Order: sequence, then structure tokens, then C-alpha cells
Amino acid sequence: MPTRASNRTITEKDVDSVLHPYTNLKRHPEVGPLVITRGKGVRVYDEAGKDYIEGLAGLWCTSLGWGEERLVEAAARQMRTLPFYHLFSHKTHDVGVELCARLLEMAPVPMSKVFLAGSGSEANDTAIKLIHYRSNALGLPHKKKIIAREKAYHGVTVATASLTGLVNNQRSFDLPIPGVLRAGCPHHYRFARQGESEEDFSSRLAAELEALILAEGPDTVAAFFAEPVMGAGGVIVPPAGYFPKIQAVLDRYDILLVVDEVICGFGRTGKMFGTETFGIRPDMMTLAKGLSSGYAPISALMVNERVYGPVAEESGRIGVFGHGYTYGGHPVSAAVALETLNIYAERDILAHIAKVGPVLQEGLGSFRDHPLVGEARGIGLIGALELVADKTSRAPFPPERTMGAKVVARAQDKGVILRAMGDAIAFAPPLIITEAEIGDMLRRFKAALDEAHGALG
Ligand code: PLP
Repeated sequence: MPTRASNRTITEKDVDSVLHPYTNLKRHPEVGPLVITRGKGVRVYDEAGKDYIEGLAGLWCTSLGWGEERLVEAAARQMRTLPFYHLFSHKTHDVGVELCARLLEMAPVPMSKVFLAGSGSEANDTAIKLIHYRSNALGLPHKKKIIAREKAYHGVTVATASLTGLVNNQRSFDLPIPGVLRAGCPHHYRFARQGESEEDFSSRLAAELEALILAEGPDTVAAFFAEPVMGAGGVIVPPAGYFPKIQAVLDRYDILLVVDEVICGFGRTGKMFGTETFGIRPDMMTLAKGLSSGYAPISALMVNERVYGPVAEESGRIGVFGHGYTYGGHPVSAAVALETLNIYAERDILAHIAKVGPVLQEGLGSFRDHPLVGEARGIGLIGALELVADKTSRAPFPPERTMGAKVVARAQDKGVILRAMGDAIAFAPPLIITEAEIGDMLRRFKAALDEAHGALG
């Protein structure tokens, strides 16, 4: 016999039973959940049938929008044929192999092998482990420190949350773990000095990186992690010249570059990978989200021969590469990912983004005159509006006013779901969004922003 009444509403059951990620748990019973029941195209619907444009593609992942039947069919077919198998201990399966081969063909720089996992965090965590394994293989046991940037987001496992440069991912979790170094955030609007050009700002960040490496001892620093466009840190597009200058420093000290393409991969920045948009030469690349359009959990870590060679040697010496997840390369997820990549190619998703990306960027740009907006930024189909208390001085609102969260709550009332990262409001809609839908999304948002401005009095 169930001990709780079974006719409780979803809201009641939710409050009684769910420990929610990224939620103020204490306030949750009072705020209550928004129950989403279905989706179609760029829209999702709540219990009452109200529609919302999903301005963040769920969690930056649902690139093909909701209701893509081909992905449903790919999953169902694979479920019937081989719902589970793994890649451990010399076993394999066709969809896992095909996916790895396809990703190597698509790789923007020469890559050697692909490791499949279930989430962005797992892919980045694996990259961290490979960095340690490789340094040991090379007889460089002190070369283990990893540099990540302020406002970076690389996941939430113990190690990846330590690379993540956001306070709430570390505070009270007793993180970061040792061995993580912090480099500056490449946000020109916020951190450039008075009159400093983008190129000069990039040069200064590269010089500061070099000073950090020299202070720590170059033979102790193993790798640098970077998202091409920083996502959860506030959609920060790198300033002109940034990556080539950073890469030159890393090359000088034989430091690996891990590019986290979890958000940027598969078209978000206008090219297939952020690596291409910004001219980066990674040694490892992590992919997730758009890899399966969010329809099935899957991620991939690509490594070049500089990484794979020593790792393979070490596993030969030890007898096994002692790492792998039960669901890494899950056949259903792999089948969905392959079909997602087929759809991107057949529908020429990059051509579509080339058409609608400028519409989003111009639309965001039109908010520059709004009294609450300090900066409009973005590239391709990702962007953000940064709210400020004073446009001239760029003074932010005091954090306790939670302006960003308030605007996002009003936007939700108006039928558009967005995400506030501090006072930066992020836009990363499904890649299939049309010009008309972008217009609709921004109109709904403007009504919310105007209302928030009016409420300031
Ligand atoms: N890396 C980046 C750039 C991300 O945006 C995210 C998630 O948002 C992750 C890693 C972590 O991925 P996951 O939530 O699948 O573990």
C-alpha cells in the first residue's frame, strides 16, 4: 500500500519528493515548480497549456527543438536492436564505432581517438584524468596543475566543479580541489581598462597567463581549459586576438589546451565548432548537448595523438586503462547522436544559422538603447544582454536586488524561458528557430524588460 495519497498533484508530489538541481531548496515549496508537459518546435507547454518559447533550448542543448520524429525513430530502432551494450574490455558495437568515426571526420583539427561518456561533466572529468595519466606516462609527475578561467563552466563533479570558476559551484562544497589555477576572464566590457582595445586586452590577458605560469613553474602546469564562448559565466565572446595569443603562451611551455565545446559545438557560434570560429588548436575537445540535440544523454572527448600516444603506452604498462562509465557510448544515445548529425548535414544547419544568427544579434543589439541594458553581446545563435544600474558608469545592480532573476521571472510570465546569470540574460534558442520566432521571443522579452524598468519607479 502506498503510504502517501496517490491523487496528489504533480506540484505536490514534486515538493514532497524531488531534490532539485540549481534551485533554492528552502524556497522551493513556496515558489513551486513550473510543470512542463510537452514541446513542439521551439516551444514548450505547461500543465495549463500555456506556451513558452524556449530561449535557452532547455539547457543550451535542444538544438533541433522539440518533437523531432527522426530522433524518436532512431532511439526506438536502437532500443529494439541492441538497447544496451558497452565498449569495455575489447567489446564494441556498430553505432558507438560509427559515431566515433564520424566525430573524427568532423573534427576541425587532427584528432586521434574519441571517448564516449554520458554528460559534459563526465567528458571534462575524463580529460582531467587523462592529463594526470599522460604526465605520469611521460615521467613528469609534477606536471599536473590545470588552469581554468574566472567564470568558466566545465561541470559539477568534484574535479570539474573545481575548474568551474563560479562561486556557487564551490561555496560550501569544500571546493576547489588542489592543483587548479585561475586565469582572467576575457570579458572586455567588464574587465578591460579605460581605453584598452580588444587586441590590447587580449595581449594583457596572455601576458598575465604567462606570468602565472612562470610564477608556478612551467614544469608544474599541464593544461589550460577554455570554452570558446563562455556560456554559464554570462555568454562571454572572446575579444579580438584572444585565442591565438593564449595559444602562443601555452605552446611556449608545452601546456595542453582543452577546448570545452559542450555549448559551442555543432553550430552554436556559426561554424560547426567554436574552435573554427576563433581559430583554436585544441589537444582535446569535449562535446555534449547539441551532439544529440539533448534527446539522449551523451558526451564525447576527442584527443589528439599527443594525448593518446602516452596514454596508450601507460595503459600497456599498467595492463588496463582503468576508466569508463557504464553508460559511456550507450547505443541508444549513440544512435540518436548519429541521426542528429545526419539531420544537421541534410538540413544544412550552418546555412540556417548564417541566415537567422544575424537576426538574433541585430535584435539583441536593438536593446542597447534600453535604459537597463549595458551591453548586448553574442555571435551566431548565442547572446546575452547585461543589465546595469547606470549605463554610463557601467555600475551593476547590487546583487541582492537580483535584477536578472526578476526580469527572467517576468519574461516567463510573458511566455519566454530564459536564464539569468547574475544580471546577464542569456539567449541560446534551438538552432532551428525562424526569423519570425526570434521576433516573437524578443517582443515577449521586451515587454518583460519594460515592465521591470517601469517597476523601478
Ligand atoms: N561544459 C560546459 C561549457 C557546459 O555548459 C556544461 C553544462 O552546461 C558542462 C560542461 C557540463 O555538462 P553536464 O551538465 O552535461 O555535465
